[in-house]
Amino acid sequence: MTTVTEAAPQTCSFEADVSKLLHLMVHSVYSDKEVFLRELISNAADACEKLRYEGVSDPRLLGDDAQPRITIMLDPEARRLAIEDNGIGMSQPEMAEALGTIARSGTRAFMERIAEAKDAEGAQLIGQFGVGFYSAFMVADQVEVASRRAGADEAALWSSDGLGTYTIGPIDPAQAPARGTRVVLHLKEEAAGYTEGFRIEQVVKAQSGHVPVPIFLREQPD
Ligand code: ADP
Ligand code: MG
Repeated sequence: MTTVTEAAPQTCSFEADVSKLLHLMVHSVYSDKEVFLRELISNAADACEKLRYEGVSDPRLLGDDAQPRITIMLDPEARRLAIEDNGIGMSQPEMAEALGTIARSGTRAFMERIAEAKDAEGAQLIGQFGVGFYSAFMVADQVEVASRRAGADEAALWSSDGLGTYTIGPIDPAQAPARGTRVVLHLKEEAAGYTEGFRIEQVVKAQSGHVPVPIFLREQPD
């Protein structure tokens, strides 16, 4: 049997704490918004590390693509920045859990501190408390995450404007990485500068120089 149509994506609400956190982050005026790149690269590198670990007991997960890599793709015309990794990836339930809830107990303390934090301190707190992914909404007004878990045939797409809800649903696997995750940021007008290759290269070298996975930069739109 052939599937002709995909199930329609579901709209879900963020956990109340996530909404609060997003609101605080978006409305705090950090000069240091570029930490979003460090956070997304660090997630991509973590995903590669998880795959390496799981691949030890199940080498089939690595297939013929055993070299970890992170690729940053820039499309100035579409004002779009994407970060792709060939790491462990996420199933649809894993995505809903990881990108819609806050499982960490430190969140409340984080929110109290960030509300009164100064610019530089705020950026530091974002890293310290592990709310990394949501920092994407400091520079983007729409974020899409397409993912395919290692070893899985199906892929899923998560999408949100960061304003309280997200949609999630299965997608044609051809629209997702063959394995791993692609995070696409539709940049806010004032963040358009993050599609400049020179600038991204500088930020990556300064913030993510120690990352143990090679990072490539592609400036051509697909
Ligand atoms: P942390 O990295 O501290 O766990 P984040 O907010 O940065 O917090 O990310 C939340 C979760 O989302 C991660 O723990 C992980 O499960 C999932 N995640 C985010 N990005 C990726 C990715 N590129 N590949 C796989 N999982 C990811
Ligand atoms: Mg992280």
